Amino acid sequence: MSHSKIVVALDFPTLLQAELFVQSLEPKLCRLKVGKELFAVGGPAFVEKCIEQGFDVFLDLKYHDIPNTVAKACEAAANMGVWMVNVHSMGGQKMMEAAQNALQKTPHQPILIAVTVLTSMEQSDLQGIGLPGTPKENVLRLAKLAHTSGLDGVVCSAQETQMLREEVSQDFCLVTPGIRPAGSDVNDQKRIMTPEDAIQAGSNYLVIGRPITKSKDPIQTLMDINASLAKSSH
Ligand code: C5P
Repeated sequence: MSHSKIVVALDFPTLLQAELFVQSLEPKLCRLKVGKELFAVGGPAFVEKCIEQGFDVFLDLKYHDIPNTVAKACEAAANMGVWMVNVHSMGGQKMMEAAQNALQKTPHQPILIAVTVLTSMEQSDLQGIGLPGTPKENVLRLAKLAHTSGLDGVVCSAQETQMLREEVSQDFCLVTPGIRPAGSDVNDQKRIMTPEDAIQAGSNYLVIGRPITKSKDPIQTLMDINASLAKSSH
């Protein structure tokens, strides 16, 4: 089990590239995030291989279905041995409770977090699906619902961590993408924060993709970020 707060997003076009990249990493330096695209090509076999190599895996499949189906899917993920799994909070309280109840019966209970509002959605998109209010208001309401439903935390932007710590719970697990070490490419991310600032602002885990996957020396980049976090936590 890793102590690193870094979760590397394995966004690669092919399974082979993902496998070669994982082979070059070390579990003590990071955890791994497997999303829908990679899971569609690599399946449980790829996830299990990562776990066998000693990595903690966040299975980012954002389940959103009827409670029974989501509960069974979470159970299947837990049986694969993943460290973290997620659901869409918009599936509602009954769905989230069913997911958490199912996980509580598994031997190696993964952390269960929720997606609140996808960061790709603006206020007009929310209106389009009948949700009044700003994205921030919806994030807060859905994060509270996830907490009430017994979930361990949410995925959120580093800009939202302080609000969620204050208004939801001090020990909610906050997982934040949109992280860029100083000097690295912003790419298509809009509101970014450095790893140190995100941890200071209250993030528990940082999801980082391209600054590591596209680095000339991913191991060195990981060591640098881990060192900067160790320094800022003293
Ligand atoms: O390469 P980069 O660091 O931007 O990758 C961030 C990862 O986090 C990607 O896998 C992306 O899909 C994911 N993500 C995100 N913003 C969200 C939720 C997930 O960037 N709000």
